[in-house]
Amino acid sequence: MIIGCHLSTGQGFARAVQNAGRLGADAFQYFPKNPRSYRLKPVDREEAARGAEAARAAGVVTVAHSAYVTNLSTGDPKLRETTIASIVNELELCEALGTRWLIVHCGKHLGEGEAVGVRRMVETIDEVMTRYQGPCRLLLENTAGQGSELGRTVDELLAIREALASHQRVGFCLDSCHAFASGLLEPGGWERFIQEVTRPEFARQLEVIHLNDSKAGPGEHVDRHALLGRGQMGELLQELVHHPLLQARPVIIETPVEHEDQYADEIRLARRWAARAGT
Ligand SMILES: [Zn+2]
Ligand SMILES: [Zn+2]
Repeated sequence: MIIGCHLSTGQGFARAVQNAGRLGADAFQYFPKNPRSYRLKPVDREEAARGAEAARAAGVVTVAHSAYVTNLSTGDPKLRETTIASIVNELELCEALGTRWLIVHCGKHLGEGEAVGVRRMVETIDEVMTRYQGPCRLLLENTAGQGSELGRTVDELLAIREALASHQRVGFCLDSCHAFASGLLEPGGWERFIQEVTRPEFARQLEVIHLNDSKAGPGEHVDRHALLGRGQMGELLQELVHHPLLQARPVIIETPVEHEDQYADEIRLARRWAARAGT
């Protein structure tokens, strides 16, 4: 299992690579720029090349997460342009750092209806991928279905991807906490969940896993992560860690630790769960 956690790159990307090694992580996720801002960040090619080389030398897989502030389904033309520029900038930063994937949250329709929300999201992503032609891939993450969030179910995610002109450069990220909170994975529903997420058209495009427990209950549509084994997912989370789906893709933990060092315990626990199944 390739497993790691979300780390700060505040002290530089190369330092984050070192921290990953110290925590026993063979992968980590980072924000390519300030996650609470649309502001663009210039690409420092030299520094990025040093960071990319550090990750490569250490054998650490890196995954990037897009800013939270963006709504891919916004109907405001100015905000849409800002959003597109922000994501293109993130893709360029990722590419410079040798990262293959940028994870984005699905859009929010804000009361205008799912059809409108999906159409705008598709147009926005296609525009991003027209402006960015590099090798970095965009991954759509399943949501908890909080408020008017799109992308709760496998069918919804597939429909969004299939509508994209740029679909060949777009894949999926599956978050366990969001799956639980959205009702995709519920107590007693393990078999149905696995049937859904292993559908070939989805599994083939599933490139990264987010491993989080959930503070909210099943189907409550609230996105609140919990430490592994401390939330409401119980056995379901351990079951998921055993599953072959998690053995071939980077697994990233984004649980509410008090300090990054605590991720060492989270990673150790996940590895222990995985080992119990003999993987
Ligand atoms: Zn996530
Ligand atoms: Zn979340």
